[in-house]
Amino acid sequence: MAKERRYWNEEIETMPLEKLKQLQERRLREVVTQAYEKTAFYRRSFDKAGVKPEDIKTLDDLKKLPLVHSAEDFRIAPIVDRLAVPFEEVRYVESTSGTTGIPMALLWSKRDWDAIMELEPRIRWNLGVRPNDVAQILTGFPCCQRGYQELGATVISLNAGRGILDNQIHVGQMVGITVIEHLPSLAIKYLERARGLGYNIKEGPLHLIVGGGEPLAKSYEEEIGEEYGVKFRHMYGSVDACVVATECEESRMHTYMDLLIVEIVDPETGEVLDLGQQGEVVVTLLWPEATPIIRYRTGDVGASLLPYEPCPCGITHATMSMPKGRLVHSVKITGKRIFPIDVEDVVASTPDLGADYQVIVDKPGDLDRLKVKAEYKPEVKDMAALKKQLEERLSRDLGVRSEVELVPLGTLGRPLFKAQRIITNFG
Ligand SMILES: [Zn+2]
Repeated sequence: MAKERRYWNEEIETMPLEKLKQLQERRLREVVTQAYEKTAFYRRSFDKAGVKPEDIKTLDDLKKLPLVHSAEDFRIAPIVDRLAVPFEEVRYVESTSGTTGIPMALLWSKRDWDAIMELEPRIRWNLGVRPNDVAQILTGFPCCQRGYQELGATVISLNAGRGILDNQIHVGQMVGITVIEHLPSLAIKYLERARGLGYNIKEGPLHLIVGGGEPLAKSYEEEIGEEYGVKFRHMYGSVDACVVATECEESRMHTYMDLLIVEIVDPETGEVLDLGQQGEVVVTLLWPEATPIIRYRTGDVGASLLPYEPCPCGITHATMSMPKGRLVHSVKITGKRIFPIDVEDVVASTPDLGADYQVIVDKPGDLDRLKVKAEYKPEVKDMAALKKQLEERLSRDLGVRSEVELVPLGTLGRPLFKAQRIITNFG
């Protein structure tokens, strides 16, 4: 029997770092020139900053270019201004989810679609998907689904179960799914519900959850492993930035250096930060033809590029830490920025609580304490002790004063898409 291939694209995945950087530099010059010559949006923005494409020669020159703010600059620009090909050459339109405003349309040409079709199976391979897998893609993205197909796996129609969770579970279990791709908070609900419907996931063939779109507390990952016998792996990206990084078998998040340049900037000043420092993820895509994405602020903060060290998995691409979330989805308490994932880390490791929680914001500006609503399990007897325990842990781990309100399991409602953790109660 032939030895199993180790990488989807061995040459690219294991390319020496110096060669990857040369490749980035060459592609950067191309995309910058293309964007300047063919789009009114980038020509205006480079001219305003006084930079010409010929000023961009090395990776270090990238910071001379202006940052593009997705909501304030890009989304409001007419599509024709940011399109680098005639509209007739557009073959595919995708959109962002609109979690921070109205959705934004992304337009791709035939060449872009081909590039995405090369990337999608490679991403899944790196995440541990193999041709004998049967996958259910519950995020609903056709290009993601095509990735599994290109890799040789079996996929279930995006429409199977008609968007109804119980039916999706029945169909998946009927055909013996081995991989689920979903938002992490919803993947947990899928597993809980499957158990409720009488399926024994731990004894079944499901072995991998690919989670994208939001972070997940470490203790939930461990719980998924222990309770259901399923491995959880992160995929970080967005519709506008495409995939930025995926988790390898060594649990490190490798970026895709041949396809994009990741920078971490200070979200307030826009200054580029050093390796290891946490800030906002800024991406420059090196492959698009129709929609150039250059120094694009993702709004995802709390991430860092990690100091380079070889990874035992053999992939040579640089690694990063997962962002904690969107800046707009964080709260400031006595000057300290707190993300829902910080709260989730505490909630997830408190066995008496359910998986849902909310951070309550009841006035504008800086808050004097963190207010959290969490769900207690029916078997809990001493509510006062649980409340006190949770308040103490939140205060200790997050370093801010905390106030907890406990509500019965199921009160906070089930998210239909990305979990809304911050609830604003004023104005
Ligand atoms: Zn690795």
